Amino acid sequence: MNKAMNAHDTGELSFDVVIVGAGAAGLNAALLLGRARRKVAVIDAGEPRNAPAAHMHGFLSRDGLPPAELLELGRAEITRYGVQLIEGRVENISHESVDGGVGPEPATEGVSHAATTAAEDGGPAFTVRLAGGQVLGARRVLVATGLRDELPDLPGVRERWGKDVLHCPYCHGYEVRDQPLAVLGTHPGAVHQALLLRQWSDDVLFVRHTLDLTPEDRDRLECHGLRVIDGTIDRLAVEDGRLRGIELTDGRALPRAAAFLFPRMVPQDELLTGLGCIKDDGGWVVTDRTGRTSVPGVWAAGNVIDPRAQVITAAGMGSAAAFAINGDLTDEDVRRSVERRRQAHPASARSEAAHLNGARSEDVHPEGVRPEAGRPEAGRPEAGRSEAGRAEGAGR
Ligand SMILES: Cc1cc2nc3c(=O)[nH]c(=O)nc-3n(C[C@H](O)[C@H](O)[C@H](O)COP(=O)(O)OP(=O)(O)OC[C@H]3O[C@@H](n4cnc5c(N)ncnc54)[C@H](O)[C@@H]3O)c2cc1C
Repeated sequence: MNKAMNAHDTGELSFDVVIVGAGAAGLNAALLLGRARRKVAVIDAGEPRNAPAAHMHGFLSRDGLPPAELLELGRAEITRYGVQLIEGRVENISHESVDGGVGPEPATEGVSHAATTAAEDGGPAFTVRLAGGQVLGARRVLVATGLRDELPDLPGVRERWGKDVLHCPYCHGYEVRDQPLAVLGTHPGAVHQALLLRQWSDDVLFVRHTLDLTPEDRDRLECHGLRVIDGTIDRLAVEDGRLRGIELTDGRALPRAAAFLFPRMVPQDELLTGLGCIKDDGGWVVTDRTGRTSVPGVWAAGNVIDPRAQVITAAGMGSAAAFAINGDLTDEDVRRSVERRRQAHPASARSEAAHLNGARSEDVHPEGVRPEAGRPEAGRPEAGRSEAGRAEGAGR
């Protein structure tokens, strides 16, 4: 990573948008928002999900690039547009509510100027606290913190994860094509994963391990050309820095070039749930197509809300969120300008509005604006989308 800039060193503590996570999702959002001339900070703990892999695949024009190189390129690009990159971990985001009420934790006085100003003016506002003690203010936040792969506790798995112990056939199947492969039965998702893998090799063993296979699953696997091995895995045999095979507790050894498993994917969404974002029955934070959550002003993108997102998908989700966030900020800026002018010149504003609407001045709403313009209702991410937001959705 480039030498991190500390927000205290810069004296700039308030941002239009604070993005948490500088993986593909966070960086692509930062690129769009930086180019939209928004004041943006990106905070990153430096642990992208695909760090164990030597190469990244399936990203048009970047196929085979080391994952760290893509992120380095992204960081260089966003800093060109004035985005501040901060190395660190965000511990907490608190919300100062739009009606001036205070969320889970109050804003630190004198620090989060953008946050308090936005709240006073009626927009969402946030205080972002880092583990090192820094505190930033933000008008909007985008959480792009990815997910955590929980791996089965079998010797050799962690050591070879992302190298020849793999999970995604689309990411690495081609690199192990036509080789002897195994799928480890450690998760119900392994059956579908194994069926897919036949696309890449004729020699795929399904090692049942602790998974209860239904007769239908067994039929499907066998009919699709896989061999089911009934046995419990003792360890993965690793020699000379390579996977050599799978050893079973009954003493059998199965020589294999690569093994696939389905990890338990856990969203790193504590910052979102701490803000009160609603989750679905499957345990994933609910958003609309732009990543807007149920909490006004809070967006999410990438693996933190979608375990299926590859790098290019996560980048696209970051881009969509950036469009929507910029549109939302613009709506708020316009609303404030109109309010300010109407407060300064109430009579002329009323007659102007009446003229524009073809209505009598007394018919004009005293506030002059739609009270809820641009704000989604809590719990309904799709509700309350602004005109700008709808246009962006239609344009995608
Ligand atoms: C072994 C492996 C290989 C893969 N190979 C490929 C491949 O070849 N092609 C492909 O398209 N996909 C691949 N993937 C999937 C890929 O990793 C994801 O699609 C991608 O990382 C998602 O990007 P993201 O921005 O959502 O999250 P991430 O890339 O995981 O980035 C999230 C960032 O947020 C940071 N963060 C988390 N919490 C905090 C916090 N509280 N404060 C500050 N920062 C925080 C993390 O440190 C991290 O840097 C692979 C995955 C694995 C596990």
